[in-house]
Amino acid sequence: MAWRVARSLLTLRDQINAKFPNRNKASDGFIGDANHDATSDHTPWYGGIVTAGDFTHHPAVGFDIDRFTDELQASRDNRIKYVIANSLIMDTRPQFNPWQWVRYTGSNPHTSHVHISVVASGLCDDPRPWNIPMLGGASTPPPSRPPTLPRFPLPPNHYFGLITGPNESHGGAPVSMGGIPDEQYYVRLIQERLQRLGFAPNVPGWADGIFEQPTKDAVAAWQRAHRPNSTSRWGEVWGDDWADLIRP
Ligand SMILES: [Zn+2]
Repeated sequence: MAWRVARSLLTLRDQINAKFPNRNKASDGFIGDANHDATSDHTPWYGGIVTAGDFTHHPAVGFDIDRFTDELQASRDNRIKYVIANSLIMDTRPQFNPWQWVRYTGSNPHTSHVHISVVASGLCDDPRPWNIPMLGGASTPPPSRPPTLPRFPLPPNHYFGLITGPNESHGGAPVSMGGIPDEQYYVRLIQERLQRLGFAPNVPGWADGIFEQPTKDAVAAWQRAHRPNSTSRWGEVWGDDWADLIRP
């Protein structure tokens, strides 16, 4: 069967190799074999694409998978499906403690290499540079995506809410119409998190950066489930909601 490696992983490999040209590659691998979890994403499956890569732990030259995995976690890169290293797994899917490290109980503890799986969607071929500090960061930042999850970006007494709401309600308006810089990006962060948590339909295009009634309904559903004593108003994202939703 013809197969190829997801482009996002080739970009990652190239960035690692460029930064650590003398690194050991003994435990590197993309395609499944006896050494590389042959029943996992290393098996070509998404249209013949291998969506997993292993990169060898080599702290002596600076490629420390402990640090690397922490920086992958901090990147919140939406191409990541899960990462395994040192008997821990961080899965980004809503049913698995997304973005949290939990004990990995598979037979291979992954102490000699880090395993990274990317998502089985068109995103796996997104070739933009990975914004990982130990790799030098991204040479060009991903479009409208700050490197780390931001603090609540609105002034006091403002909130994220309907784009048709009052001036205090920020719903993705451009700066020329009273929005803050990157306002659509912030709304999309909220929408993507609601999708991840299962409070919004997981359909392409739903997270469009515009806060309308469906987003308000999804926020309210999340608040009822997670913040029943919220001091915020239903369907509006205030600083305390932001702290729980975006920066848990
Ligand atoms: Zn692997």
